[in-house]
Amino acid sequence: MKALKEKIQQDGKMLSESVLKVDAFLNHQIDPQLMKEIGEEFAERFQGQGITKILSIESSGIAPAVMTGLVMDVPVIFARKRKSLTLSDDLYTANVYSYTKHESNDISVSREFINSGDTILIMDDFLANGQAALGLIDIAQQSGAAIAGIGIVIEKGFQPGRKLIQERGIQVESLANIASLKNKEVSFFEEVDS
Ligand code: 5GP
Repeated sequence: MKALKEKIQQDGKMLSESVLKVDAFLNHQIDPQLMKEIGEEFAERFQGQGITKILSIESSGIAPAVMTGLVMDVPVIFARKRKSLTLSDDLYTANVYSYTKHESNDISVSREFINSGDTILIMDDFLANGQAALGLIDIAQQSGAAIAGIGIVIEKGFQPGRKLIQERGIQVESLANIASLKNKEVSFFEEVDS
């Protein structure tokens, strides 16, 4: 997606050869116009798949997920990282290891909001090692819902996330796929449809 790649070039900061900071438009300050275009792009890429709900994770997955939910006219659920006060019987939970934070966290979603009748689009801001996405897949599978695919705003294609998801037979769509962050420069993998 051209507008997103330009924004990354313009405002992204390379914290290291593997971490990109996008606080200027996605992770702290949010660019609503860009989020709207992102929502439209995901809705187009996943159209006709009978999606009934979007499942994302707090906090940075929420903005792109809500804009996509608005265009697709479906509800958006976000997995919580904090322990909920409700009984765990009422929750689907999965354990997610973060390579960036070197810690693992339980994520949870209330059973009230996803069930076996749903077809879920899973969304997140970044795809790196795939652990957050695998946790969301785990939760969707616990509910018995079908998974239409995974929508990622920024993929770091030099990390193994995509492979781990595709091995499970699940479609991955990312709007910007980074090939390298070396030498304080961002370069993208070519996309046929960008
Ligand atoms: P994964 O589970 O795929 O390793 O990492 C995905 C999660 O880690 C995303 O939800 C995102 O919050 C965070 N993350 C991973 N890599 C980056 C990065 O380079 N920049 C930012 N801002 N977040 C990242």
